Amino acid sequence: MSFAFTTRLPLSRHAVDRDHIERTTPGLFDTLWADASTRVFVLWHGRALLTLPLPRGERSASVRPRLQLVAPDRVPADAPRVYLGRSLADDELEPAGTRLAAVTLSDDQAVALEPDETRWVGLRAVVTDLSDRDAGLFTEALGVLNWHASHAHCPRCGSETASEDGGWVRRCPSCGNQVFPRTDPAVIVLITDGQDRLLLGSNALWENNRYSLLAGFVEPGEPLEAAVVREMFEESGLRVTRPEYVGSQPWPFPASIMCGFTARLADDQLADDLVPDGQEILDLRWFTRQELRDAAERLILPGSSSIAHAMIERWLSGVPSGAQAPTP
Ligand SMILES: [Zn+2]
Repeated sequence: MSFAFTTRLPLSRHAVDRDHIERTTPGLFDTLWADASTRVFVLWHGRALLTLPLPRGERSASVRPRLQLVAPDRVPADAPRVYLGRSLADDELEPAGTRLAAVTLSDDQAVALEPDETRWVGLRAVVTDLSDRDAGLFTEALGVLNWHASHAHCPRCGSETASEDGGWVRRCPSCGNQVFPRTDPAVIVLITDGQDRLLLGSNALWENNRYSLLAGFVEPGEPLEAAVVREMFEESGLRVTRPEYVGSQPWPFPASIMCGFTARLADDQLADDLVPDGQEILDLRWFTRQELRDAAERLILPGSSSIAHAMIERWLSGVPSGAQAPTP
């Protein structure tokens, strides 16, 4: 396991102290909204507001996109709100210690704030260009606001729930049930065989030349390692062994965390025993490092924001399955 691997992943970076103690302070949002130094992250249909439109084509390192955080008097106090914590980044616009909140805007509210749609951008489109603080802020806000949007009613009695504790709990006024933000774990697995070849699959929902690592959701009552073995058998027909944790990345589309593992083809399995499940996975292929490099132009491989991209790059750099990545 290499913690350094996780902290380099685009959506795993962060520079915000989540400041959980402050969440239960009475009148927290009144205090935050009365403080002109508070800054508010605004979300509209999963998109954040940037200070400038995202440039098309080649990005310039000198003009790094950044989030447009707004003063509290520019957003309506009745929008769904969450307290995200205090910035840890030394930034001239929002110095370290700045208290940060997030709100979800309606269409009318978003257009009133910024009508130029090119300044509203999704997390995957921009995250690799954002600073650590902005990447973590966007990821945290999207995950928790997605949860609010899908948990408006009590799972026990169906009543409408209300947000409390800075937006980190929803409580049912009828039966008192508390509901906490949830994240659905998924495993994503870099499988290698005895020749250190890599297994990639093509998903039924993708273009037919798009390939990635195999992945699947962890089921209730199941350890991550068992999910690796079960999911890989279901999707490929292959038995794998030695699941080893590599790192994790939140994936709030809408509510996942991807737990990266390596695994080896079991000794009694032949690499040719591939059986794509035919529903989720339509094709499976083994690649040597050279074969993958040679095929890179013909194949669509995972995007740079994904943990799959980082895991494949790590393997291409020569890190054998199950070994720790070198720490930079
Ligand atoms: Zn209830």
